[in-house]
Amino acid sequence: MEQVLKVCWMYHDIMDLYGDKGNIMTLKKRCLDRHIGFDLHTCGIGQKDDLSNYDLIFLGGGADKEQISLIPDLLQRKENIQKAMDEHTFILLICGGYQLFGQYYIAADGKKIAGLGFYPYYTDTGKMGSRCIGNIVIDAQLDEMHTKIIGFENHGGQTLGVTKPLGKVLSGCGNAFDAGFEGFYDGKVLGTYLHGPLLPKNPDVADFVIYKALKKRNPDLQLKDLSPLTNPYDQAAREVLLTRMHIE
Ligand code: GLN
Repeated sequence: MEQVLKVCWMYHDIMDLYGDKGNIMTLKKRCLDRHIGFDLHTCGIGQKDDLSNYDLIFLGGGADKEQISLIPDLLQRKENIQKAMDEHTFILLICGGYQLFGQYYIAADGKKIAGLGFYPYYTDTGKMGSRCIGNIVIDAQLDEMHTKIIGFENHGGQTLGVTKPLGKVLSGCGNAFDAGFEGFYDGKVLGTYLHGPLLPKNPDVADFVIYKALKKRNPDLQLKDLSPLTNPYDQAAREVLLTRMHIE
């Protein structure tokens, strides 16, 4: 295999809610099916690593307790993560991970934890006991790719001040109860509340992530250069959910 995707799954042992691991499994399968190598590393609290060496950094969702436990370690890596972003490492963040790239997160017990502060958005748990839970569909624009993304959300956090949302909510909550918009995407970082997990349910997004990550070492690569993969179950699963949610 001449091409290899180098991936770092951060805090894999504590940030893996609602099957977020499925995102890694999907990326691996879709790479190997194309004869692209998949070099997976994990990085836990206290582990030394240079994150700018990777093509893709993945950080999943987690409960407040886990988010609080990892934040001192994450904040120490701020400069290194900035370097990774500057050097075109693509970053995929789910739910709790997405929240921590903003200004701050106020947990359900009122504790305020500082985020990495890369973006102006911030997250407050809002009304105690109320959470955004359920299936969700958004209409998203990922560079030139326009698509409907489906998933499952379960978060108390209400994220406000998002300057570049990933998509418009067609069904579900999104960044907050009445936000109308979901996630964050600026070409370098894709943050979303969608578990499900996200990538098995949205193979086009999985391929988009692979493409963006490979681009670090192949700047001329285009999305259409990834050979198509056909799996009848992918499309069938999407259609079941979209029909159930009365979305065309
Ligand atoms: N603890 C955070 C919240 O409830 C994130 C949850 C998650 O990652 N699903 O908002």
